[in-house]
Amino acid sequence: MKCTRQKTGTRSTQDSVITRTTRLGTTTRTAHLNTTGRTTYLSTTTRIVPILVLLALISISSLMSFPALARGGLEGVKIFIDPGHGGPEPGAVGPSGLREADVNLRVSLALRNCLTEYGGAQVMMSRTDNVDLGLGERVTLANNWGADRFISVHHNASVNRDYNATETYAYYYADGIATDMQEKVHNRLLEGLGLRDGKARTAGFYVLRNTYMPSILTEASYISNPYEEARLRDMGYTWREAYYIYLGIADHFGVAP
Ligand SMILES: [Zn+2]
Repeated sequence: MKCTRQKTGTRSTQDSVITRTTRLGTTTRTAHLNTTGRTTYLSTTTRIVPILVLLALISISSLMSFPALARGGLEGVKIFIDPGHGGPEPGAVGPSGLREADVNLRVSLALRNCLTEYGGAQVMMSRTDNVDLGLGERVTLANNWGADRFISVHHNASVNRDYNATETYAYYYADGIATDMQEKVHNRLLEGLGLRDGKARTAGFYVLRNTYMPSILTEASYISNPYEEARLRDMGYTWREAYYIYLGIADHFGVAP
């Protein structure tokens, strides 16, 4: 830029126009004048510099718009995540004391990150901390927000401690949209966790029955199984569970994750 100003500023009226536009930072205009005006006065350096400046500006603008480029196919989709239980209600408790409510929250927070950072979705959560929240409040939050989809995250328990499986629930009278999401998420959870197929099932759970939007409830594994409880203590494992739920949602919307 400095080179352009010095070389063109001393030549003629046309050149001073070039100088002014350059100072205003309109490099394209400078380039245009260069080609239509006094090109004979301009050295190779003078012609290359505006191109370099233009390339630099393109690079800067690419960096500035990086968050937009990182957004995925779920942009504009409103997904409500409900980590089951919380506060005084721990849900199921593992053989060595791991609380389902805490695991549900950890998976849900990771799921929120995947949905927003990879998918570009809008996410609202019923809770982001270990607080008590009634089922009615959870449903009201999702309905008032006008969520497009509702996902309640749970982990199951059985008196048989050897038992472990992946189950995904939809309401008895769920429409095709909800059962499609259910199937897609269920298949991804089976793929991601490698557990026994406890099937995609129907149930009358309060949150599934009372939410206006297509809803599912995941029971990705049994916290009552000692081996599974140990895995659920691991942050990497719960992140993996969340990531595979996210992949299922991406499949459901027919977008690349
Ligand atoms: Zn539960």
